[in-house]
Amino acid sequence: MGRHERRLGLALQRGLRGRCAACGKGRLLRNYLTPNASCSVCGEDLSRYQAADFAPYVVTFLVGLVFTPLALVLTARGASDVTLPVVLLAAVGSAVFLLPPIKGAALALLWALNETN
Ligand SMILES: [Zn+2]
Repeated sequence: MGRHERRLGLALQRGLRGRCAACGKGRLLRNYLTPNASCSVCGEDLSRYQAADFAPYVVTFLVGLVFTPLALVLTARGASDVTLPVVLLAAVGSAVFLLPPIKGAALALLWALNETN
């Protein structure tokens, strides 16, 4: 075990807030989605945790899970010409909003599962 206890639940909470999984203080991401190589507060090496496309997959799943049935129901009920574009904008906005916290959680998950440090 390293100098930080790797508790999964706590790490995920910190990751969702965009904070370092180790100390909960330093920023995990910069420029929207770019992971920091190390924590500016505790110095934890974060460079080896690469989430790749996991966060976009999760966000696509969640947004699709909510908005696809909604769009289908609205279409089946004869929604107005304004309703579906609004739903589409809400779906895109949700994806943009969710991507950083989900990526933070993915990086925190990798950090928490790494017992070699
Ligand atoms: Zn830290």
